[in-house]
Amino acid sequence: MYKVKQIKGLTYLAPPGWRGVLCAFTTRLGGVSQGPFATLNLGRSCGDDGAAVDENWRLVLGGLGLEGLPRAAAWQVHGTKVARIEDIPGDYHLYRDTDALITDRRGIVLSTLYADCVPLVFYDPRNKAIGMAHAGWRGTRAHIGPVTLAAMEQAFGTRPEDCLVGIGPSIGPCCYSVGPEVGDEFAPLGAVQSREGKLFVDLPRANQLLLLQEGVRPENIQLAGICTSCRQDLFFSHRGSGGITGRMASIMVLL
Ligand SMILES: [Zn+2]
Repeated sequence: MYKVKQIKGLTYLAPPGWRGVLCAFTTRLGGVSQGPFATLNLGRSCGDDGAAVDENWRLVLGGLGLEGLPRAAAWQVHGTKVARIEDIPGDYHLYRDTDALITDRRGIVLSTLYADCVPLVFYDPRNKAIGMAHAGWRGTRAHIGPVTLAAMEQAFGTRPEDCLVGIGPSIGPCCYSVGPEVGDEFAPLGAVQSREGKLFVDLPRANQLLLLQEGVRPENIQLAGICTSCRQDLFFSHRGSGGITGRMASIMVLL
């Protein structure tokens, strides 16, 4: 089970037992945004007031003790491009058309954004490298998790059997009903449930299965096991809100 941590007014989830890296999945609690973005919206392109988003980021980075560190973020497009972060041009850089970030540099804050899609985080304690990926159904279908792992293998010599993986809060099979065209994509993997004449995809499970196939050890994959749509008191949910909502961030930095 993930720990729910609270520090300086910030509430976040973290995979337990990871040393040498800071990893946080933010919630919607503790920010200044209003209405459907209440309160800790970290997304700039979902319709919220930009000044509120700036303040929310300030609160998050301050709460985590990461003020002043250079930041790398992804302009996510549900694709499979992985950006290797070495040096940031300036204090902040947005990597375009990118859904995964990897680095072996200490002190660079990586972040990606979510509101139902699956946040994947990777930590290779042997080679001191980290990665994160944004896995909606398109990214999962395109194997963004294994693609990110392969990029870490190529860049840092990461071996799947050494890698720790976190699968953060996302929409669960309780709420993620899909049409047959999407269900058919995930049926061969065994990540589809059928009830009351509807199909439901288990995206966290699909990502887990794909990473197990790559050789990640079962005991090294930690699932949050919490549904963003069921728990809109804690999380933003695109599906659960009808589409207008904020974004949580997955944040990692190698210490
Ligand atoms: Zn649910």
